[in-house]
Amino acid sequence: MSERSALAVRNRHVPSVMTTDVLLVGAGIMSATLGSLVKNLEPDWSIDVFERLDSPAQESSGPWNNAGTGHSALCELNYTPQRPDGSVDVSKAITINQQFQLSRQFWAHGVTQGVLGDPRTFINAVPHVSFVHGEADAAYLKARYEALAGNPLFEGIQYITDRDEIARRLPLMSAGRPDDETLALNWSDGGTDIDFGALTRQLLDSLERQGGNLHYGHDVRSLKQNSDSTWTVIVKDRQTGQKTRVNARFVFVGAGGGALHLLQKSGIPEIRGFGGFPVSGQFLRTTNAQAVAGHHAKVYGKASVGAPPMSVPHLDTRVVDGTPSLMFGPYAGFSPRFLKAGHLTDLARSVRPDNLMSLMGVGLNSMPLTAYLVKEVLKTRNQRVKGLLEFAPSIDGDDFELITAGQRVQTIRRNGMSGTLEFGTCTVSHADGTIAGLLGASPGASTAVAAMVDVLETCFPSRLDAWRPRLLDMMPSYGTDLMKDTTLLSDLRRWSDKTLRLTPEDQLA
Ligand SMILES: Cc1cc2nc3c(=O)[nH]c(=O)nc-3n(C[C@H](O)[C@H](O)[C@H](O)COP(=O)(O)OP(=O)(O)OC[C@H]3O[C@@H](n4cnc5c(N)ncnc54)[C@H](O)[C@@H]3O)c2cc1C
Repeated sequence: MSERSALAVRNRHVPSVMTTDVLLVGAGIMSATLGSLVKNLEPDWSIDVFERLDSPAQESSGPWNNAGTGHSALCELNYTPQRPDGSVDVSKAITINQQFQLSRQFWAHGVTQGVLGDPRTFINAVPHVSFVHGEADAAYLKARYEALAGNPLFEGIQYITDRDEIARRLPLMSAGRPDDETLALNWSDGGTDIDFGALTRQLLDSLERQGGNLHYGHDVRSLKQNSDSTWTVIVKDRQTGQKTRVNARFVFVGAGGGALHLLQKSGIPEIRGFGGFPVSGQFLRTTNAQAVAGHHAKVYGKASVGAPPMSVPHLDTRVVDGTPSLMFGPYAGFSPRFLKAGHLTDLARSVRPDNLMSLMGVGLNSMPLTAYLVKEVLKTRNQRVKGLLEFAPSIDGDDFELITAGQRVQTIRRNGMSGTLEFGTCTVSHADGTIAGLLGASPGASTAVAAMVDVLETCFPSRLDAWRPRLLDMMPSYGTDLMKDTTLLSDLRRWSDKTLRLTPEDQLA
């Protein structure tokens, strides 16, 4: 019996009535992170995780369902938009980078405490690179470099236009291009590739060792608040059909694409007006040794016109279960499901009187996006490979297989009489702090720690003073603007690099 199915069987029996302090819906990176934080802060609180599938991290947090980029805004051009005057707005990049510093510290702390195992099982150093061609985009990349170069969070970033140097660093992307084509890179050695599935499993295993209860194959069906503010949550065993009534003091809906439905069912007013727009995706992947040896970087290009920001093409070195591979994509598409293992009726079931206007408004304003998605869905394998070859002309497309990525549900938020389609993540919580959930996808798993700290701050304000020393122990830069404390930043970066085995010496070992 595999380790995973043993885990599922071990947790099969659940009584028909039970109580818990903290109920986490879903066994993805968000619930795993929140469970780990809470166990650290309140070791005596009971924690129960209910996951509808038979093992953890099978949806977006699974290693092949996302791109595994440790998003810290080193290479993603959608985080550094160009202003009309040609200058570059780096404010979003700074926020995301600071959030990622918290993740690095939390994971490094987890390694020192034995919560996480050998860091090489979930994080590896891989340069992060922005890549453009043509004079106009090269000018933008130069302006981006100039805006970031003096910032301590982006220390070491380089701007490279020399064709020989580009050929040395990115041979598969350089060969086969016209000699007179202008190419430009922003290169950062401090990037990472992360197996968020392995990270999720390790966090949950540790939670279980510390007394948390993991219940796989259990679907959370409904949530209702009681007069004493606790929640009655109905959970169904998908194998036996048995229903369990759980009384919980606090509920976190970490159900990924399933979060919108559950928050709607909870009836909290804060979810009114929210809707979801599902976007499916595919990647091309190869483990061919020659291709893998020819490319060591995560290289992000520019999104094509009309394409949503999450469709930016990128060619990535991936390390999953110790095996390196290359992945290209994502190719966006449309499916009405909200989870990979969801239902065709998911989108229809999310439509409510309170979000109808938001959905219709976004529908009317998103014609270019819809047209783009339709075009993407209709692409043949050859057309997809053509996209790869435009990015890396000398790569052999035959080496690549097409895999289905995770399902994203982009958040639609009410905006007056209409709605806005958002591409980030947001947390929604009830005013009394007894329930919270996470909507949206990007930057997602990389910033799970900041997102879950935000949940704690919003839902448990009266506990924060007592928790601060433990929070600082787990994340020494908690509450500090690292741009203003560069000594702390470089100390923490050195410490987390060493602990997470991200130094050049460690990576060669
Ligand atoms: C194509 C793609 C590429 C991405 N690339 C990156 C990247 O490079 N870097 C990055 O940081 N992030 C990336 N992301 C985002 C990242 O994967 C997600 O933000 C993150 O994994 C979400 O974690 P989660 O725990 O909220 O959800 P999930 O991992 O989806 O977990 C939710 C869990 O809840 C369970 N569930 C749902 N409904 C119920 C219910 N009713 N009862 C019980 N269980 C339920 C599901 O089965 C699932 O296991 C990407 C996402 C996609 C789709």
